[in-house]
Amino acid sequence: MMQIFIPLNFLGFVYREMKGSLANIEKMFAILDVKPAIEDRSNAAPLEVSQGGIEFRDVRFGYGPDREILKGVSFTVAPRQKVAIVGASGAGKSTLFKLLFRFYDATAGQILIDGQDVSDVSQDSLRRAIGVVPQDTVLFNQSILENVRYGNVDADDDAVMAAIRHAQLDNFIAQLPEGAHTMVGERGLKLSGGEKQRVAIARALLKHPPIMVFDEATSSLDSHSEQGILQALQELSREQTTLVIAHRLSTVVDADAILVMQDGRVVEQGTHEALLGADAVYASLWRMQQRERRIDDVTLSP
Ligand code: ATP
Repeated sequence: MMQIFIPLNFLGFVYREMKGSLANIEKMFAILDVKPAIEDRSNAAPLEVSQGGIEFRDVRFGYGPDREILKGVSFTVAPRQKVAIVGASGAGKSTLFKLLFRFYDATAGQILIDGQDVSDVSQDSLRRAIGVVPQDTVLFNQSILENVRYGNVDADDDAVMAAIRHAQLDNFIAQLPEGAHTMVGERGLKLSGGEKQRVAIARALLKHPPIMVFDEATSSLDSHSEQGILQALQELSREQTTLVIAHRLSTVVDADAILVMQDGRVVEQGTHEALLGADAVYASLWRMQQRERRIDDVTLSP
């Protein structure tokens, strides 16, 4: 009886774990809205990342033949720079990320990483080289420690704890009954949007890929969470080339460059100061957000 019980029980565990991870993969594709339809070229070589520089050269793309979404996008990101992408909803920001990952092929132009066209390299090597902090992070029904270790399953506890500290999660964890061993998810703790995104940052720090893409959550954060995310993001972009889709312009003030997208084109680029000086699209977005913040501050104050 025992002999049957244990394997069945174990199989049940494996099934639940597999179902969980399949659901997560499905969810990931749903979040990215992606069909994994692209295949490697027969002679695809692995991507060799030496520096982590990225270049978009006159990239054009549409999800269907009737509507062009990217209308000739060109920009370069130097190794270890932090570049923010801003612009109205629907401007094409996430589409840039999907093409960098080669979830779709551009209809014209080239996307290069350290001089290698993403359509020539194996997708496996491409995705290993790029870490993602998505808007909505999938957490497993395990401890915080294990959720972070997912970034690099070979990492020891010390390395995981260091990533947790760098992602500014240590103060939060110190308040939990079982610290980093506290379970999250269905049977455990529910994390706020900001805390979840910091778990994703800790994972990415542990994975330590040469290129990071960060899709900032649109959900509103209290200023304490926002500060935590900003510091964690600074940690993340210290050594890696980092691309950030930013919804809150406070995230982009210290970026090496800001790309302003409008209707499938990069219409402005420069530092925060330079773009404010230019007094065009970015400057008006900035003024609008400053006004909204002041209204929020007034509404939130007792
Ligand atoms: P947001 O800030 O709202 O996330 P965004 O700037 O990231 O917007 P994208 O998600 O890149 O914008 O979308 C650009 C345009 O492409 C939008 O008009 C969108 O409706 C369209 N689009 C996005 N994904 C698909 C898809 N899978 N099929 C068809 N159209 C799509």
